[in-house]
Amino acid sequence: MIKNEIKLELEFLYEKTLEGTVNAKKRKQDQYRRIISHLYYNGVASIAEIVKTAKMSQPLVASLVEDLLGFGVILENGIGESIGGRRPNLYCMNPEYQYVVGVDINLHTLNLAVFDLNNQLIYREEFKEFELENSSEYCQALIGKINVALDNINIGREKVLAAGISIPGLVDAENGLTHTHLSFAEEGLRAYLNRKLGFPILLDNDARTMALGEKAFGKAKDKKNVLCLNLSNGIGLGMILNGELHSGKNGFAGEFGHILIDPEGTLCNCGKIGCLETLTSGKILVRQIKEGIEKGQESFLAKYQDEGKKIDLRAVVDAILAGDQFAIDQLNKMCEYLGKGLVTLIHLLNPEMIIIGGRLAQAGKYIISPVSMWMNKYAMDKISSETELVNSDLLDDAALMGTMANVMKKIFK
Ligand SMILES: [Zn+2]
Repeated sequence: MIKNEIKLELEFLYEKTLEGTVNAKKRKQDQYRRIISHLYYNGVASIAEIVKTAKMSQPLVASLVEDLLGFGVILENGIGESIGGRRPNLYCMNPEYQYVVGVDINLHTLNLAVFDLNNQLIYREEFKEFELENSSEYCQALIGKINVALDNINIGREKVLAAGISIPGLVDAENGLTHTHLSFAEEGLRAYLNRKLGFPILLDNDARTMALGEKAFGKAKDKKNVLCLNLSNGIGLGMILNGELHSGKNGFAGEFGHILIDPEGTLCNCGKIGCLETLTSGKILVRQIKEGIEKGQESFLAKYQDEGKKIDLRAVVDAILAGDQFAIDQLNKMCEYLGKGLVTLIHLLNPEMIIIGGRLAQAGKYIISPVSMWMNKYAMDKISSETELVNSDLLDDAALMGTMANVMKKIFK
């Protein structure tokens, strides 16, 4: 049952601007969409180039391009090379036609962005202390930040195509519902924010959104079977399988952090015992380092403690990159469990690439080397040798880029 069906179109594609019967409007929308999709994904193109992928006749494309120029959604962009005869006019998206708001909600921080239709970040801000709470007060503060951002860059609400939201925990993206965080509103988070902000909202789980970002803009581009790990305080997994984001029946696929590893282990915040996340996650790494320091362990981070500074995941990663032996040792130990968990995924899914993202990805070689060592030890060579393990190069921007990718994917569904 669809509880809150979402309607999302580029402004001119809403039926009110088109004429004719319902079927005629639909056909026209589809034709316009094919041209815009070509320009969005290819940047600049001539009518002849569009004809090839949009599978429509040359005169029809020429006439639709005229319409689109009139709507202001595309622009002329110089003259191309001649392939015999007159040099062709080139066209591109009008980056300022509409904008997409990107919202990356984390447990302790918030990232906000505004993109133009060329995928350029025209605004980006990180709020370092923005604790996630299940309350309307949190949402009011979030809405306030979005409004201030739009005012700062002088963008009217009518120019916002949609806001894409990335949030940790269980998310039913299709119905716009969150089950772990911000579940206070009876109508669901998507409907609530849509009502308060006045523009369409798309939301999904953080790891899946990051996977969309990697697929559209990162190392998963042009790849079909890729696992994207979000290693921050917890462990998330976004799966690209056969070229598509895999969400499962209710949109809950990818709860890799909650697979059982140690039945005799400790309680997880999901209520179960011995989940992978209780043995290997940023939260556990920070806790183990703090405990070591309490016991007198030498570390750069001991100085942090003495100076009254907070030892958090960011500080731990900085210490690792500065060569802190104790922090590197603790990370190494943790990587065995992670490696074992990944081997299960490799054996089940035979991915061509595993991308490590999230805060811990910033540890670079200090995470890639031990994880690949454990993977080599436990995996069947024939399968694992075909799997490349890499760090994300989108890093902190992966989820934000994913919100943009999610919105545009919906537009060109
Ligand atoms: Zn758990």
